[in-house]
Amino acid sequence: MFSLSRTSLRQARQLQTVLRHSSRSFVTSRPRHSEFKPLDMFSEEEEMLRESVQRFAAQEIAPKVREMDENEMMDPSIVRALFDQGLMGIEISPDLGGAGSSFTSAIVAIEELAKVDPSVSVMCDVHNTIVNTVFRKYATPEQQQTWLPLLAESKLGSFCLSEPAAGSDAFALQTRARKDGNEWVINGSKMWITNAYEAEVFLIFATIDPSKGYKGITCFVATKDMGVQIAKKEEKLGIRASSTCVLNFDDLRVPAENLIGGEGLGYKIAIEILNEGRIGIAAQMLGLAQGAFDRAVPYTYERKQFGQPVGTFQGMAFQIAQAAIDIEAARLLTYNAARLKEQFDETNDPKYSFTKQAAMAKYAASQVAQRVSGAAIEWAGGVGFTRETGLEKYWRDSKIGAIYEGTSNIQLQTIAKFIQKQYS
Ligand SMILES: Cc1cc2nc3c(=O)[nH]c(=O)nc-3n(C[C@H](O)[C@H](O)[C@H](O)COP(=O)(O)OP(=O)(O)OC[C@H]3O[C@@H](n4cnc5c(N)ncnc54)[C@H](O)[C@@H]3O)c2cc1C
Repeated sequence: MFSLSRTSLRQARQLQTVLRHSSRSFVTSRPRHSEFKPLDMFSEEEEMLRESVQRFAAQEIAPKVREMDENEMMDPSIVRALFDQGLMGIEISPDLGGAGSSFTSAIVAIEELAKVDPSVSVMCDVHNTIVNTVFRKYATPEQQQTWLPLLAESKLGSFCLSEPAAGSDAFALQTRARKDGNEWVINGSKMWITNAYEAEVFLIFATIDPSKGYKGITCFVATKDMGVQIAKKEEKLGIRASSTCVLNFDDLRVPAENLIGGEGLGYKIAIEILNEGRIGIAAQMLGLAQGAFDRAVPYTYERKQFGQPVGTFQGMAFQIAQAAIDIEAARLLTYNAARLKEQFDETNDPKYSFTKQAAMAKYAASQVAQRVSGAAIEWAGGVGFTRETGLEKYWRDSKIGAIYEGTSNIQLQTIAKFIQKQYS
């Protein structure tokens, strides 16, 4: 029979005392309910932003979505309107022309825009969470004074890292920069550059010394009029109104003061920025999934077959319930990653490190977007397959979530590395 030795009995009693004591202290120090907020609760300012973006998207963007998709071109009035609405400088401080809002505000705006048009959403996302953030975090005060007011008020930005031979392995890039007096001279090509057709500000990653490997990679800022050439505008499956271009730099001369963050620090900037940028793509995919769901579900309660609304057949109702659960899970992953990032920025405390959660949010939200938008087409039957309902567009747009800012495999690799570090 199992019996406790005297020593282990003594240890068990000590443990009981500790537990009794700690449970009492747990009871007396129990936090008030208000100290813990559900992840989908927002500040008043964030709520107001959500409502205003919803209104703006419904009134200004929705009427143009189909035309922009078919023309594969962003309407310039939408770019202008995003600036006028203050949506292009969400986190930039008010003294530099921005709104001085939270990262979560940017996430909320990206999500709301994607419900209506994922192309407009990614334009706003890349500009805010990537380009503006590079300047906010790594530029000198003088560079911030020069560039941030322009980026908040009128000039669209793009982030030029990928190249024909450097995609997932981005730091294999070959674009070169050499110093010539008071200038840097950049030569090379970039591929897949979002916003490039409309952009006026380009963050360009180039190596100043290939023998140093990734430690030679450096970030520069150039304007279009310095000689950034658009070699090709891609024709794509989805997010067709969002421009994606091949760029050539042929002796592109930028002033020495246009180097951002220090020589050889480009790789650090790119890694850190893409870690947080992924939360933006998660928000885009979350909004896309919700947009497809909101459009298809009401139809299933209107459309009758066999004398009843098709959405009330168990086979349909359970699929709809499953999609709602998937969207909710993606939402909580995305908001949690965003709040962690805010806490990390504020405290620099590694307990709020968010890289794994950002990769999980992006991976999960892009899968959910594909599943829900695909199912939404089927829920609407034949009309779902036509271009009239816009459901097929959500599905086409959803594919990109598994590719840009790190493919799904790269997200899995990141998550797996964290798990291995924790358990081995
Ligand atoms: C519409 C669009 C917009 C974009 N916008 C920008 C932008 O604004 N700026 C920018 O710099 N880039 C941008 N990109 C580039 C994008 O980030 C890359 O396409 C992406 O990182 C994948 O690179 P790749 O296309 O070269 O694919 P590859 O790296 O060639 O990958 C091909 C396949 O191999 C898999 N794979 C690769 N390596 C591994 C590995 N180690 N383990 C397992 N599987 C692996 C990938 O998961 C993928 O399935 C954009 C791309 C697109 C399509």
